[in-house]
Amino acid sequence: MAWIGIDIGGTFIKGGLVADDGRVERTARRDSERFDLTALSAKIDDLVGELGADAGPRGIGVGAPGLVSNASVDFAPNMPALNGRDLAGIVGSRTGLPAVVRNDADMNAWGEFLAGAGQGVTHMVCITIGTGLGSGVIIDGKLHGGASGYGAEAGHIVVDPDGGPCCCGGRGCLETLVSAPAIVRRVEDALGKGRRSVLADGEAVTAKRVSEAATGGDELSVDTLSETGRYLGIGLTTLINVLNPEAIIVGGGVAAAGRLLLDPARREVDARAYSRLSQACRIVPAALGSDAGMVGAALFAMEYLGKASGRRHPAPAG
Ligand SMILES: [Zn+2]
Repeated sequence: MAWIGIDIGGTFIKGGLVADDGRVERTARRDSERFDLTALSAKIDDLVGELGADAGPRGIGVGAPGLVSNASVDFAPNMPALNGRDLAGIVGSRTGLPAVVRNDADMNAWGEFLAGAGQGVTHMVCITIGTGLGSGVIIDGKLHGGASGYGAEAGHIVVDPDGGPCCCGGRGCLETLVSAPAIVRRVEDALGKGRRSVLADGEAVTAKRVSEAATGGDELSVDTLSETGRYLGIGLTTLINVLNPEAIIVGGGVAAAGRLLLDPARREVDARAYSRLSQACRIVPAALGSDAGMVGAALFAMEYLGKASGRRHPAPAG
């Protein structure tokens, strides 16, 4: 039996046909549409056709950015096309398949939990660092949604009371300090002050280039990732103290920096968190890479839509 998982990002819409055991049988993608709902839903429809035309998928799980309640994307500042839309209803009626929608970082977490670095873990947090910082929390084998389904937005833990403004309306949120734009801003500031670096070549600075330069030993890039990791560790300290997770899994494009980011985060956690809780928690890289969201969405659909056909994994909340 197979399920379709779809991960809607700002750049690409990625889809996978995923077997019950989490194996990805087929993938496809389309360029995303941030503003035009009709074009976006046509592309999803097209993607589902390509993935499932001959495979008889049972249903569709969708990970979407923003605040997502049971079926609807209630607030998506980076993807206006989805704002206030009943995306599950739209996808379901266009494709003729049952559909469920959740937050994209929650679907990443669910994928890592069932098929990636979180296998065998019962209490975990998955952090996804890219343009922003998303998170999903799994407590007692269940995805935590909270009263509105909006939890958990760890990117908006306040780590600097006097920090810069955030898209959520707050200031000094973790996401403003630990994300691809934050890394780029730090490097550009340092270059502006005349700091030497291989990145001072006139080309646009990107988080990916900073990671690559750091791996090659560029001092400014190493320092930048270290400072970013330090703030990540301050944010993770709060999660560890509150939730007592066994594992924090860190994925997303920025996490490609690996130990250069995670080692400083670990040092900060060890220095700040309640020591027994800190010792109980591993901080590890994600295992599924950019497939996590679509794998998680497909497996969530299997659980959520396929309840009548028997359950093989811990139940998702909601
Ligand atoms: Zn915020």
